[in-house]
Amino acid sequence: MQFVSKQMKHFLAGSSMIRKMFEAGIELKKQYGDDNVYDFSLGNPDLPPPPAVRPALEKLVADSGKPFVLGYMPNAGYPELREKLALHIAKEQNCTVPAANVIMTCGAAGGINVFFRATLEPGDEVICPAPYFVEYGSYAGNFGGKLVPVMSKDFTFELDLDALEAAFTPRTRAVILNSPNNPTGRIYTRAELSGLAAIIQAAEKKFGRAIYVVSDEPYRFLNFENAELPPTFELFPHSVVIGSYSKNLSLAGERLGYIAVSPNFEGAGELSSALILCNRILGFVNAPAVAQRILLDCMDAQVDLEIYRARRDAMARVLTDAGIEFNMPRGAFYFFPKSPVPDDKRFVQALLEERVLVVPGSGFGGPGYFRAAFCVDTGVIERSAEGFRRAMKKF
Ligand code: PLP
Repeated sequence: MQFVSKQMKHFLAGSSMIRKMFEAGIELKKQYGDDNVYDFSLGNPDLPPPPAVRPALEKLVADSGKPFVLGYMPNAGYPELREKLALHIAKEQNCTVPAANVIMTCGAAGGINVFFRATLEPGDEVICPAPYFVEYGSYAGNFGGKLVPVMSKDFTFELDLDALEAAFTPRTRAVILNSPNNPTGRIYTRAELSGLAAIIQAAEKKFGRAIYVVSDEPYRFLNFENAELPPTFELFPHSVVIGSYSKNLSLAGERLGYIAVSPNFEGAGELSSALILCNRILGFVNAPAVAQRILLDCMDAQVDLEIYRARRDAMARVLTDAGIEFNMPRGAFYFFPKSPVPDDKRFVQALLEERVLVVPGSGFGGPGYFRAAFCVDTGVIERSAEGFRRAMKKF
């Protein structure tokens, strides 16, 4: 008897590498104790939410006896929050953004699914620079779309504009970008993005359809060198920005994000209406009330960037001491160093034998590398040094 769809059966059989590491970590911690396992496998922020979150929650508790405080709301979210957020996004995008173009979602993940539901026809293609956040493949696939990963330049992970240009077809519907990037820590420059904008413009003309840019930005605030984050709406008229409060407010379990639609194209109103409808019909109905009320009071708050900077520097020292080659991440909380052998899984296994948990780059469409998330305590990073050194000696 068949209890799940054939596709799900297939997906279940190929359980993800991150998940395998997660399970290995639980076993090792049971055996050796939490302090003796160095787990860099997950991008789950460990910092507590910033201080402004507590009074916002206390206010909510005080108001919780009132009717509808936690009730249904318009599908796009609380109007006063959308107004406030639209002003915030306008500053980042350097243009006026109407509140009608801002839709609150269940995290960035919910936002991307809503966007694909609203725009993809079965068989449509979504181009994505690799290495990339693996869930994008599932998100496009949920609506009959196909992710088309395009490898970035070796080691620097600069966009390979020639390879990207060659990937456009009459079925291309969108390009999904993630900067600062998970897993590479790269921030795309204005020159790279302008190059991509010219390619998209030419492809739109050639194929006669709008090709969207989806700028997925959960790590926008983790920008260690204050690098320019060029405004998406200015560079790409057919675009959306997808944001999240999972990382900057450490509220990943509260599932809050948003989609902001560029005001710079004539279909923006129709797209916004479709996105709001999809929020409803995908079953989210609206983004969580508690998280939206927290955000109303905490829009300018964020976790301490300096803590992440200190961890980044500690991890850089550990990798350098072990003789591992890497590019210093300019943003997000991941290193994507080179494996000393082409088979990244072999090196990840050697690290696992030293109780150091990382994820093979092949799990992100970047074989020959590995990902180490530094959203863990500096002490863990420092204590992992011996394990990295010993694993390197094996090669
Ligand atoms: N996009 C990227 C690149 C991510 O790394 C993540 C989470 O790790 C998400 C989206 C999903 O974020 P959220 O928790 O807001 O759904």
